[in-house]
Amino acid sequence: MKGNRWIARISQIIMVVLALFLAGDFTYADAQTEPDIRLVLQITIDGLRADLLNRYENGFGEDGFRFLMDKGAYYTNAHYQHANTETIVGHTTLATGTFPSQHGMIGNVWFDREAGELAYNIEDPDSPILPSRENESTGEQVDPAQKKSRTQGRSPDVILVPTFGDDLAAYYGGRSKIFGVAGKDRSAVSMAGHVGKAFWFSTNTGDFVTSSYYYDAYPDWVSKWNGQRKAEGYAGKSWSLLNDASAYLLAAQDDRPYEADLKGYGRIFPHPFGQSDDKLFHTRILVSPIGDQLTLDFSKALINSEKLGQDDIPDYLSISFSSVDAVNHFFGPSSLENEDVIVQLDRTLADLFAFIDKTVGFKHTLIVLAADHGMADMPEYMTELGFKAGRLEPDEIVAEANKVGRKFGIDEIVRFFYRPYLYLADEKIATAKLDRTKVEHAIADALTDFDGVALAVASSRLSAQQTDPLIEQVRNNYHVSRSGDIYIVQEPYWFLFDKGPVTAMHGSPWRYDTHVPIVFFGPTIDAHRVHRRVHPVDVAPTIAAFLGMTPPASVQGSALVEVLKR
Ligand SMILES: [Zn+2]
Repeated sequence: MKGNRWIARISQIIMVVLALFLAGDFTYADAQTEPDIRLVLQITIDGLRADLLNRYENGFGEDGFRFLMDKGAYYTNAHYQHANTETIVGHTTLATGTFPSQHGMIGNVWFDREAGELAYNIEDPDSPILPSRENESTGEQVDPAQKKSRTQGRSPDVILVPTFGDDLAAYYGGRSKIFGVAGKDRSAVSMAGHVGKAFWFSTNTGDFVTSSYYYDAYPDWVSKWNGQRKAEGYAGKSWSLLNDASAYLLAAQDDRPYEADLKGYGRIFPHPFGQSDDKLFHTRILVSPIGDQLTLDFSKALINSEKLGQDDIPDYLSISFSSVDAVNHFFGPSSLENEDVIVQLDRTLADLFAFIDKTVGFKHTLIVLAADHGMADMPEYMTELGFKAGRLEPDEIVAEANKVGRKFGIDEIVRFFYRPYLYLADEKIATAKLDRTKVEHAIADALTDFDGVALAVASSRLSAQQTDPLIEQVRNNYHVSRSGDIYIVQEPYWFLFDKGPVTAMHGSPWRYDTHVPIVFFGPTIDAHRVHRRVHPVDVAPTIAAFLGMTPPASVQGSALVEVLKR
């Protein structure tokens, strides 16, 4: 009996120990969720204002945007904190986790005081673009920022601080592979940082190109991809709606008089691309869902050829999709074109995610999605809806400032104006022995009274004591040698830009331009929507923290706790 009891006891103990062991083992396995990340995939949708994801959600499939929104940590209330919400400014902020005041990219274009002319952000005469084919023809440049470029060279030299990608390279002793791909040069170059490699779509040729900063000659796989002449396959074809028109919320908003026509591209569907020797052919490709599809196709070739995410050392790939922004500029964010390009991008993203799962695996991938800025509707559209809005003429702003200058006895006190900055004629002010601060304030006050201008901020007024949120955004944008003397903030929905093919703009400090989505998806990240206010400067430090790294050198943001909870 005694013996039997012992046997029963022992088997009880064994059962308990076994149960504990099993349970312990389970818990142990559960705790082993330290992610094994092999690829950081940072997706930036150029010009994707945050509310557009809500507006078009019914048109999305299960595997694109909705997949990230439902399965990731989705931040619905993220806002840029700088005033000049433009492409290079937003991308570099995402890449570095800091403000333009530190990373130095204060606008797509600024006035080079020393040279006395405009500078395009990433231009670099010492880093020419590598020709991708013989007898390259030149397309007509309609990007108003790129048009200002003095040279065809491109490099990140002008970015003043390291990016997350730069730090990743340092952390892993140069063993991480780091790449930036985009429809636009500035989006690829900024995200690739100083040590990564960048490729972008050429509106001259439809090829993905790079510069001598990155390579002496094209890698074979790039020449092979370009040799397929994929863009030219769309010659004579059109951009048509993906679905029946009745499926769209904005079906009635196709033909609007204030939409732009890219010389035959038309205001209504279908939009014909024209023939491949047409000077605007490759631009029209970018101003359509095809631009994003080609960007994806090239990125897949890159992932395969460079073997991204195939070993324990995490690689970094930034893909910036540029077509939503391009479409917005010509048709506006409340057009049928905008709805279709985003619905088609949803399918492109689904394709990308399936490819990543197959080649790298979701369990080895951290996906981050954000946008570089939002977008304003055209003032004519807002006026139709009952808003007060209009178009500000840059020349009128200059004339008003010069009028104030004459009161101080100076003719043409404005040296240069390129939105948002007014640059004053320093020498004239010094020669006249004027109190510079007094002059600046007088001009700023006169411009603030100007119809359509909300606030003109003299740089000398950007003291830290100023708590006005607009002034704080202007201060975050201020770099001592690149910024101008007076920052012009237009009233909401007012258009402040040169006359040209572009009819809708972003670039203001207002919420439609600062509000962007931020989503993190990866192993160990719980699905939830976060509605507290966060900022794009938080993105780079969050990626760094997720990988157990120190944040980039000049970081101003904080790691997002919801992404790090394990
Ligand atoms: Zn942009």
